[in-house]
Amino acid sequence: MSTETTKLVFATNNRHKLKEIRSMLSGRFEVLSLEDIGCEDELPETSATLEGNAMQKATYVFEKFGWNCFADDTGLEIVALNGRPGVYSARFAGANCNERENVEKVLIEMKGVQGREARFKTVIALIIGKERKYVEGVVEGTIALEPGGDGGFGYDPVFIPTGNSKTFAEMNPEEKNKISHRGKALEKLVEYLAEVSNVR
Ligand code: IMP
Repeated sequence: MSTETTKLVFATNNRHKLKEIRSMLSGRFEVLSLEDIGCEDELPETSATLEGNAMQKATYVFEKFGWNCFADDTGLEIVALNGRPGVYSARFAGANCNERENVEKVLIEMKGVQGREARFKTVIALIIGKERKYVEGVVEGTIALEPGGDGGFGYDPVFIPTGNSKTFAEMNPEEKNKISHRGKALEKLVEYLAEVSNVR
């Protein structure tokens, strides 16, 4: 059992996300992955909200492994689809679908639709001892008429952030992280952790 404030678990095995947060928190917090703490479990994500899912994952790790922890959950909210796929973004095209199928489903549902506004939203839930904290990041944009670019992942080929002509998949990782939903949420997390570590 360990609840050291200098070590924090990020409840993910996504290497891309780990690299991003480790470089932002370097020197202040050591960020451990699920693999690092020997957690091979599938984390529960059964809530109907991003907040609920993020806290569910963080709580699982905190309670079962005893580590201070944070977890994220992201959704693509398309205005013309009444906010769908939202919290169900990972399985929009079906239970065992892949990312290409999700993108295809978005383009099919958006065929002929004029108003193409959408946003990505990331919620991060943090547990440090008795403290519970949420931060979120949002990026507004539009859904492209067809996929563009082969960078990034998920819905990146069809998301054009406001003020840009390129999709996220046509940007390099630095360009994307500077303006992305997750980048913004992580910045807020870093700010909060800096405050907390100054107080202790
Ligand atoms: P998760 O919460 O990060 O697992 O993401 C949920 C769903 O949103 C998955 O289908 C991801 O592919 C998608 N997603 C999450 N972040 C991004 C992103 O930055 N760009 C595009 N798709 C994303």
